[in-house]
Parts: sequence; structure tokens; C-alpha cells
Amino acid sequence: MALWALRGARRGIVTTRFPRRPEPEAAGWPAPPRFRDGEIRRDLALRMSAACPSSALEVVGPRLVLDLGRCTACGRCLELVQGPGSSRPEALLATRRRANLVVSYRLGDVK
Ligand code: SF4
Repeated sequence: MALWALRGARRGIVTTRFPRRPEPEAAGWPAPPRFRDGEIRRDLALRMSAACPSSALEVVGPRLVLDLGRCTACGRCLELVQGPGSSRPEALLATRRRANLVVSYRLGDVK
């Protein structure tokens, strides 16, 4: 367990400052997916979208749209991709604007 969590539990602190440096243990935590632009074909994107239990993935025109606000980091989409995708080891998902949580990727077979 991270040291800052143990310190917080001991002192009764319910919130902590943002870590100053990357948390090494975070690399093993479940994380939302990250894809590479142009490496996912439409048929695969549609299957990934259908497999997503929280409707976080959607094919919109020539793009695969990922709503990080809906993603539960279950990893089902990454099981289908097997290559052009990975999880986000960093958990920098805090934002004041909902729109910042929506990212999109260009589909590979769309000109
Ligand atoms: S990790 Fe799970 S919830 Fe997130 S986009 Fe993939 S299938 Fe959907």
C-alpha cells in the first residue's frame, strides 16, 4: 500500500495533496485504455463498443470515441484489441470540465 495512504489512515487525513512524483504502485492498477490513432479498424471498434459494459466506447463517423468518465477500466476492450491498445498507467483523470474526459481516435480503415 502506498505510504501516503498509510500516513493518512494513521493521522485521520481524508484527503491528500496530489503526489509530487509518479506513484510506482499505480502501474499495476486497473486503468482506462489508451489506443493509437489509426491502428484500430472500424469492425474491431464496433466489436469493442459492443463489448463495453458501461457504454464508454462509441464509433462516431470516422472516429472511436472513449468517454473516460464512463470507463470502469474493466479491460474488456483491450482483450479484443491485442496489440494496438494499452492501459493508461498514469491516473491523471482529474478535470473541472466534463468534456476533457472524452477523447477520440481516428479509425485505421477510414480515409
Ligand atoms: S476498459 Fe471496460 S469500461 Fe473502459 S472502455 Fe474498455 S470495455 Fe469500456
